[in-house]
Amino acid sequence: MTEAASARIKARLTTCEITRRENLTHDLFKIWIKPAQPFMFKPGQYCTIGVEGIERAYSIVSSPDEEEIELFIEVVPPPDGNLTPLLDELGVGAEMTLRPRAKGIFVLQPQYKHHILVGTVTGTVPYISILRKFLNDPEYPAPARDGDPVAREDYRFHVLEGASYMDEFGYDEELTGLANEHDFIEFYPSVSRPTEERNAGWTGAEGRINTLVEDYVGKLGVNPKETCIYACGHPQMIEDVARRYAGTEFKFMEERFWKEDD
Ligand SMILES: Cc1cc2nc3c(=O)[nH]c(=O)nc-3n(C[C@H](O)[C@H](O)[C@H](O)COP(=O)(O)OP(=O)(O)OC[C@H]3O[C@@H](n4cnc5c(N)ncnc54)[C@H](O)[C@@H]3O)c2cc1C
Repeated sequence: MTEAASARIKARLTTCEITRRENLTHDLFKIWIKPAQPFMFKPGQYCTIGVEGIERAYSIVSSPDEEEIELFIEVVPPPDGNLTPLLDELGVGAEMTLRPRAKGIFVLQPQYKHHILVGTVTGTVPYISILRKFLNDPEYPAPARDGDPVAREDYRFHVLEGASYMDEFGYDEELTGLANEHDFIEFYPSVSRPTEERNAGWTGAEGRINTLVEDYVGKLGVNPKETCIYACGHPQMIEDVARRYAGTEFKFMEERFWKEDD
């Protein structure tokens, strides 16, 4: 890259500082970052952070009302992973670059009553932001521009999360708490390796979450025209859910965290 091109990119970047870090497992951690400049986003959108010129997209966990941006990150070990091994070395006080604008169209679709939010591990991140905002802000979501408006009290949220191991559910306590408190929120976690020692004591659902979605949605008995299915995270999970609902009247939205042939 020429010096001029590098300077142009730098000029488009702002910075942020890590203010808190929590390690969940050997390869999953959460960080909270404080942007140097005000940073606006919609629940479900992502920010782009960078270290040593390597930049990647991360969906935002926090609600826009929160002071800091919360991220939930899975480390892709070297030699495949590029940024995450560097992020994994960082602690409180470390500075990173931040693209000044959030991006993404994986946001709540306000014209639907039923929201089936399917994710794998870090793929639940956008749903946490959506739910936190929904619970904090009576003006959210803004009504849909077309179609019949759905009253806020008619929204129903179902978070379906799949992980290999039960210690990978980064937001299970929060989601279980929300599901206990609110009859319009349900949380359905499933582990795909139930017989392994790491899942000892697991009493919930078993199997890959993509294989459980149809059964779960079928039992709800929802009207497909009133239902949006969101899938986020692992590309194979997304492809399978998309295939199951192709040609139906359900609305389908997806956010792939990586491409399979990467
Ligand atoms: C819109 C969007 C939002 C995202 N949000 C998040 C998020 O909230 N949390 C998060 O951890 N990641 C998220 N990602 C993925 C993130 O951008 C990085 O790709 C990921 O952190 C790996 O970065 P890396 O530089 O270490 O590896 P890369 O250089 O990006 O990828 C190296 C290789 O690993 C594969 N790969 C990438 N991610 C994974 C993974 N998680 N598991 C297995 N293989 C993988 C890629 O296909 C590639 O072959 C998001 C991606 C997109 C496009």
